[in-house]
Amino acid sequence: MSSTLEASGTTYEDRNPATGAVIAHVHETTREELDAAVRSARKAFDGGKWSNMAASRRAKVVYKMAQLIAERAQELMMLEVRDNGKAVSTAKGEMGAIVDCFEFYAGAATKTYGETMPPPLPTYLANTVREPVGVVGAIIPWNFPLLLASWKVAPALAAGCTVVLKPAPSTPLTAIELGKIALEAGVPEGVLNVVTGSGRELGQWIVEHPLVDKIAFTGSTATGKLVAKTAADTIKRVTLELGGKSPTIVFDDADIDAAVAGALYGIFYNAGQACEARSRVLLHRPIYDRFVASFVERAQNVRVGNPEDPQTHVGAITLPEQFEKIKSYCEIGRSEGARSLIGGIPASLDGECANGLFWTATAFEAEPGHRIAREEIFGPVVTFTPFEDEAQAVALANDSDYGLSASVWSNSIGRANRVARAIRSGTVAINTPYAVFPGVPFGGYKQSGYGRELGMETMRLYTETKSVLTYVGEKAMNPLGL
Ligand code: NAD
Repeated sequence: MSSTLEASGTTYEDRNPATGAVIAHVHETTREELDAAVRSARKAFDGGKWSNMAASRRAKVVYKMAQLIAERAQELMMLEVRDNGKAVSTAKGEMGAIVDCFEFYAGAATKTYGETMPPPLPTYLANTVREPVGVVGAIIPWNFPLLLASWKVAPALAAGCTVVLKPAPSTPLTAIELGKIALEAGVPEGVLNVVTGSGRELGQWIVEHPLVDKIAFTGSTATGKLVAKTAADTIKRVTLELGGKSPTIVFDDADIDAAVAGALYGIFYNAGQACEARSRVLLHRPIYDRFVASFVERAQNVRVGNPEDPQTHVGAITLPEQFEKIKSYCEIGRSEGARSLIGGIPASLDGECANGLFWTATAFEAEPGHRIAREEIFGPVVTFTPFEDEAQAVALANDSDYGLSASVWSNSIGRANRVARAIRSGTVAINTPYAVFPGVPFGGYKQSGYGRELGMETMRLYTETKSVLTYVGEKAMNPLGL
């Protein structure tokens, strides 16, 4: 960030959740510094060096960012593992996805086409151009710090926007590196500004700031509602990627082994701290017992452990408050009468992880009305609920305030696609646990948010449409005849 202000000296401690060790002292951005960061982004935008740069040149710079991230993938991966506590096996896949995201949007920079309309009058030409929306406030949660930053920064830069990027307080380190990478790649100074802070007010200041044009927010539904309300005061453009309670639906004609493997991944990937975690498994009655028995047996082999061990499946829980939330939901589940099948307690580790935050792979049998089957837990906790027929499966899947993602397992193409169409969520994956790829729009229905990331249509959300009307008639117009 280019600023004439002296940076304040206040810092806060950033800890590795797997060990409890302090790994960084992070700058506490003051309100004046945030204002300077926004003004720096505004100046860079209005100056036009980036926003008016030929799209093909911008594309090359964004592509260069992809290359630099690829070169530094190992180092960024370990930084993410230590900052977030996620298993290295998870973080590794993310690094590839981040490179893919920057590459995809580098390509998109030269493809944000306008349109030519049929002339409204014979003497007119009418066309639209897509212009960058302006200064973007990008606000990121802690579960996929660099990945989710890349989902916003890559399309914003490709579109010609400037950005104020705010990582979550507990996981700021890779965002800071992204700022350095941008400068090294040739992004002009002032275009990408990274601000860090320990409190919720920093995000609030960004959303309130009159010089910010758009907020791209990922986080909880509760905070998303606040963001939308605050942004309304200045009519900011807003996209919201919020929470979820996504179902896995398994029919009796599915490949049960594959569906169990998919369901295990769907909840234990990233320790269940994933917005699209498949946290409720809906099972066709005839295969219910077989599926549950197989899941529980295989879940016993889930390795909860040191995130830096390549064999670990489930790393640390990132925040003490998140750990407490998981604990309290397991208690709620038991008190509501949900039947505990496996886990439901903290995992104790030895050695350097003895003070870390770890939770066992957990599964409950639950009624659809149980809170653990309805509310987002954001941890390695899954519920199983039976259904009798297709109509009930769809009804249960849709009986949620959320609508982010879903998996359907069936070997009937007709049934799987019928159910996919009936489910009110932004993504439906059929017979696969993997459903998030650059190029494929990702986002929510209902209270999981609005707007889409990762797709070509995302470029529309970082641009404004300008209509240009040109009079090409021979005779000058004189509408009032004066
Ligand atoms: P959170 O809502 O607490 O915080 C998200 C971000 O918003 C953080 O950077 C935080 O500092 C900031 N923030 C807090 N208060 C703010 C305010 N008043 N104004 C502006 N910004 C503010 O969420 P979290 O706990 O960091 O993340 C977990 C949540 O994120 C879960 O609900 C999860 O489902 C959701 N999530 C959604 C997606 C998606 O793509 N839909 C992806 C990942 C996570």
